[in-house]
Amino acid sequence: MELDTLPDRFHGGQKHMRHRWLAIGALGTFTLLSATAHATIRLGHRTIFGHRNMQRGVARKKTPLSKHPLVALTFDDLPAAGGLTPGDNRVRIARQITQELRARHIRGVYGFVNAVSLPGDKDAQQALRIWLHAGMNIGNHTWSHPALDDVSAEDYEREIALDEPLLAAYAGRRDWHWFRYPYLEEGDTLQKHEAVRGWLQAHRYRIAEPTLNFNDDDWQDPYARCVVKNDAAAIDWLKQSYIQNAAEYLRVGREEEQTAFGREVPNVLLLHETAFTTLMLPELLQVMHQQGFKIAKLSRVERDKIYARDPAAGVKGGGTLPNMYLDSRHLPYPNSTPEPEDKLNSLCQ
Ligand SMILES: [Zn+2]
Repeated sequence: MELDTLPDRFHGGQKHMRHRWLAIGALGTFTLLSATAHATIRLGHRTIFGHRNMQRGVARKKTPLSKHPLVALTFDDLPAAGGLTPGDNRVRIARQITQELRARHIRGVYGFVNAVSLPGDKDAQQALRIWLHAGMNIGNHTWSHPALDDVSAEDYEREIALDEPLLAAYAGRRDWHWFRYPYLEEGDTLQKHEAVRGWLQAHRYRIAEPTLNFNDDDWQDPYARCVVKNDAAAIDWLKQSYIQNAAEYLRVGREEEQTAFGREVPNVLLLHETAFTTLMLPELLQVMHQQGFKIAKLSRVERDKIYARDPAAGVKGGGTLPNMYLDSRHLPYPNSTPEPEDKLNSLCQ
């Protein structure tokens, strides 16, 4: 294995920024994260806050938010999301997250799998079994997390198909025919968008498009660095800023729905199965409870007709379901406080 990092990628000026991420080459070839002591795969999502900020200050009528929005929790990049700190492992992370969910009687949560992490990694294999034994589900997130903007529809479809044998083996009789697009990229041209969507439909997949995303995984790398440096004050700031950012973008996502769809819709929230999530999940669920959120299953949420509708647009850099409509229909974004991206990137360096 060799070490490499890809520079942040920008689209259309500062519109969308993809994280540094560290998979290169053909299927199954990885580079390793050199910044943390424990080298592991980083499968991040690009941020979309730059775009939102560009559109700040556009006047819009405020409609009150609903009191009890529905939300299905989903976790991406199983079984190896983000870096590990020394001594940590995937089994501990999976165990702690599922214990927290079960303590709140939350079951059937979908975790989206990149099976490339499974062969030869007993820790990752066991972590995925723990997830399933706890009553959770798994879906397809492609074999090795390619960005659809970067590859052809045909190559992308091969990546989805390649994920299937291991998914089927682990899921057994459970329904694993749910798909989450890596980086939330659904195709930068209409043609590509429709080609992959058609393939998914022909292969009996349902698409788990999130409506809510606060880039939770942006906190994992700084957290891993601060643990290595034993910087308690920095970790406190990470915890606090994570919750602030979550609360902010849970609101923003719902306001985006009002603009995109004329109403709030039952939600799908994107989270990642990282070490930092184990630390923050109890408080995050508490904040969501305070905001009136009711946890529901993905299949229940996606009974809403909005999920059967095709955004039918090529959107460079992708985004959540409301983002797809706002971008392609040139609708305004709500005001928002930006994610503290610079501080996250520089903290504990
Ligand atoms: Zn992902």
